[in-house]
Amino acid sequence: MSRPVIERAVVASKNPDKIAELETLLTRHGIVEEVVRGMEWPDVVEDAPTLEGNALLKARQVARSTGLPSIADDTGLEVDALGGAPGVHTARYSGPDATYRSNVDALLAALRGVEDRTARFRTVVVAILADGAEVVAEGELVGEIGLARRGSAGFGYDPVFDVDGRTLAEMEPQEKGRVSHRARAIVALADALSAHRT
Ligand code: IMP
Repeated sequence: MSRPVIERAVVASKNPDKIAELETLLTRHGIVEEVVRGMEWPDVVEDAPTLEGNALLKARQVARSTGLPSIADDTGLEVDALGGAPGVHTARYSGPDATYRSNVDALLAALRGVEDRTARFRTVVVAILADGAEVVAEGELVGEIGLARRGSAGFGYDPVFDVDGRTLAEMEPQEKGRVSHRARAIVALADALSAHRT
């Protein structure tokens, strides 16, 4: 891509871990020239039944409130042995006051004694452009839920999400930024935006 598709955009998240990852990916892949920080918007109630629905809710409300193009991502962890749960409920898996720690504890407890620990992270990313166009893309990463936490990088469920023998929290941020569900969604978004422009 020759020049960024979007000059200035707001990342529709209040999670500093997610903003940092998205900002790096969006600039690296030539999607956004400048991520605008410090904008305010009312909390978004993420009550859609799908990841795409929630990403659209966030992106639309933030574009409306700030008057700028916006990028939102919604991510779910889908565990085969739990029938695809927590899925759209990943952020609040351990209850309304969930923290990274309580969510991982709840997941390890739910999988105690379970042999098949196959899981996938799925990210849906939505870009709302200056002309109001909405572009949607998706990325997925398959792995396994480990038996205990390993590693201290990353955030959320990274310490228990094992890919080929290492958890995402055992990878350098640059490596997670090459292989992750979010990185794959952003690569797909860059492709979708190129197609949108031509
Ligand atoms: P949301 O997309 O902000 O709703 O995040 C859903 C849940 O997944 C939250 O509990 C996040 O902490 C977690 N999560 C999102 N992205 C990642 C990731 O890249 N690694 C680990 N956990 C994540």
